[in-house]
Amino acid sequence: MTCAIVTGGAGFIGSHLCEALLAQGYRVVCLDDLSTGLARNIAHLDGHPRFAFIRADVVCESAWTSLSAATRVFHLASPASPDDYQRTPVETIRTNVVGIFNALEFARTHTARLLLTSTSEVYGDPAVHPQPESYWGNVNPVGPRSCYDEGKRCAEALAMAHARQHGTAVRVARLFNTYGPRLRPDDGRVVSQFIVHALRGEPLPLYGNGSQTRSFCYVGDIVRGLLALMNQDRTTGPVNLGNPHEITIAALAHEVLRLTGTTAGLQVQPERTDDPRRRQPDIQLAQRLLQWRPEVGLQEGLGATIEWFRAHRAEEFPLQAEEVKQTDARGQLDGLPVP
Ligand code: NAD
Ligand code: UDP
Repeated sequence: MTCAIVTGGAGFIGSHLCEALLAQGYRVVCLDDLSTGLARNIAHLDGHPRFAFIRADVVCESAWTSLSAATRVFHLASPASPDDYQRTPVETIRTNVVGIFNALEFARTHTARLLLTSTSEVYGDPAVHPQPESYWGNVNPVGPRSCYDEGKRCAEALAMAHARQHGTAVRVARLFNTYGPRLRPDDGRVVSQFIVHALRGEPLPLYGNGSQTRSFCYVGDIVRGLLALMNQDRTTGPVNLGNPHEITIAALAHEVLRLTGTTAGLQVQPERTDDPRRRQPDIQLAQRLLQWRPEVGLQEGLGATIEWFRAHRAEEFPLQAEEVKQTDARGQLDGLPVP
């Protein structure tokens, strides 16, 4: 049976990816330290005969040596929300640099194919619009976002170096802003913040004047893109995955107010340091290489996300430690502590 490792599998995107891989018949090992993910995201997979969860830090070599062979490694482990990664910038760099190094060594040893989830943040505050993969970016290397931006840039460099030097089969996906069910309600990202505030009937916090733009892609589309990229047979350079529909943050706020029927309005707050002004993916490469394009529009995707937040009473989200049974790579219960 084909085995896929998903690091960061208890996170927002990773938990959807684990589900999709199980549906395709893979045996799935989720490796996650639950630093920004939640046990509840994968609780419904607990007990699945082809699913195993290992609570471990990807930085620790021992986490990798305890794993048995796999043919696919989806490497997602990394904080992704600016609030999350700026809270622990040193760990963010370490996770992105040492984590991918360990993942690549594992892939090389087991002749596995590795996919790295990089980010549109490698383009920084882009001077080219929309952003094609050929654009080298405009990143502040020492600002508060640099732990993530430079961490991911280094991760990309390591992946490409491994491919050149050792012939490791790597795929690099540059994800643009992704949203959907299982966003952590308190993660501070704009979609979760806006929906939680709207459901509480509180004004939506708008950082700056709201004229900055992003392009939001529904999580189901991203998971489809990740699988397509992993399955295509050539090692290529990075590939953008995102929805090219660009929107200002102020317009997004009004859309969330409208869809939730909230009249609380907006509360303007100071602009974030180094907040990129515009961001929109050029997805021509993904369209050509993968025959992939997003299918879920913003209104539909936001509607589904709001429904999920409502159904899970996300506005009352309690922050509490949760336990989930751990299994080792062979699916045995072992109660491993975080190495
Ligand atoms: P997330 O925070 O929900 O998930 C990340 C997961 O990684 C969490 O479950 C966390 O516990 C785990 N993790 C973090 N550090 C770890 C470590 N050292 N060892 C083991 N596990 C660790 O974030 P997400 O939005 O699901 O993002 C997943 C991936 O996609 C990340 O690599 C992120 O950089 C990338 N990405 C996401 C977006 C987006 O908009 N969601 C955009 C661009 C790139
Ligand atoms: N933002 C906002 N209010 C919030 C959270 C974010 O206005 O409560 C803005 C933020 O300043 C940025 C955009 O929304 O311009 C997207 O922020 P997010 O943290 O979701 O992701 P980023 O693309 O910045 O990594």
